[in-house]
Amino acid sequence: ISEVDLTNKDSTVRVAVRIRPQNSREQIDMCRVCTTVTFGEPQIFLGSDKAFTFDYVFDTNSNQCDIYSECVERLVDSTLHGYNATVLAYGQTGSGKTYTMGTGFDHESETTESVLLGIIPRAVRHIFSGIQQLEASSSSEFSATAESPQFSLAVQYIELYNEDIFDLLDPFNKNSNFKIHEDGSGQITISGASIKPISHPQDALKYLQQGALARTTASTKMNDQSSRSHALFTIFVRRQRLLTPNDNVSGNDLETLTSKFHFVDLAGSERLKRTQATGERAREGISINCGLLALGNCISALGDTSKRALHVPYRDSKLTRLLQDSLGGNSQTLMIACVSPSDRDFMETLNTLKYANRAR
Ligand code: ADP
Ligand code: MG
Repeated sequence: ISEVDLTNKDSTVRVAVRIRPQNSREQIDMCRVCTTVTFGEPQIFLGSDKAFTFDYVFDTNSNQCDIYSECVERLVDSTLHGYNATVLAYGQTGSGKTYTMGTGFDHESETTESVLLGIIPRAVRHIFSGIQQLEASSSSEFSATAESPQFSLAVQYIELYNEDIFDLLDPFNKNSNFKIHEDGSGQITISGASIKPISHPQDALKYLQQGALARTTASTKMNDQSSRSHALFTIFVRRQRLLTPNDNVSGNDLETLTSKFHFVDLAGSERLKRTQATGERAREGISINCGLLALGNCISALGDTSKRALHVPYRDSKLTRLLQDSLGGNSQTLMIACVSPSDRDFMETLNTLKYANRAR
């Protein structure tokens, strides 16, 4: 496991763009590809004259492993050293958010090809192998008296819909009065939402699949709720280490570091068609835009060194409130803007690139 590089403190928010391949429908309809990527540079052209530069750009031929190793792996390392991290997938419905996160269990073959695994299953494996390494990195290697850390892990999986919280790991718990709390040290917790301890990668994946299933089951009943809700899968990491006289501290003899890694599959970024924007739909549209809008504002404020100190508007939505202790500060954030390559999605892709551009 590599050393954590926090030297680049000013860019705690990084932005990646991922262009999915054309699907067969788009090929049959002979849609044109309107995106091009400059070779060797993180730059994307939309049409012939609109260029955007990000921290990373992944073209249609990139695979799940590229995304993970180039931009997510380092965040996992920082989580194991006590820092919070967040990966967000943004983009219109059908642009590849769920595929990229790795929670689309529709290709339900038991022999799930590992090359197709998305970010979360890869991160889970990496966290467990990283922990094994750190726990084993005992005394002999470094100093004769240093104790190696011991880790404990847990997961939470919730959905945010219309500013309401649902517990995807306890989907029948409808009465629970979920509340967002902030403790004295600025840590955010949700009371009422279940937290499941895990001790093997399979435990995490079981909960991930269980929650994803709860999400899609609910959505087929409720007008594809999943495209209009945010899903947050969180891994809590607690690292404890017995301090020795070598550590030069007095008092507490147990050092505890806690951190969390949020994986957020955001609501579809597409604007609601005017004709649909009445009644219940309109309410949904407004509150989803409220989360994405607030997120854009927070991330843009964090990226702006002059504004950062002044005000980051976390309180404008439940989404940003929940992520408050994991965006900015010492946390590492990656936003993956997912886009379609096809000309018929040109306007949505342009909107996505503009949104992502604000985050830089
Ligand atoms: P979203 O979550 O943004 O609505 P999905 O992740 O469900 O979009 O993707 C829509 C469809 O496109 C799915 O069938 C998915 O498997 C496929 N897809 C998305 N991205 C890719 C990719 N990079 N390579 C291959 N198939 C993809
Ligand atoms: Mg999805």
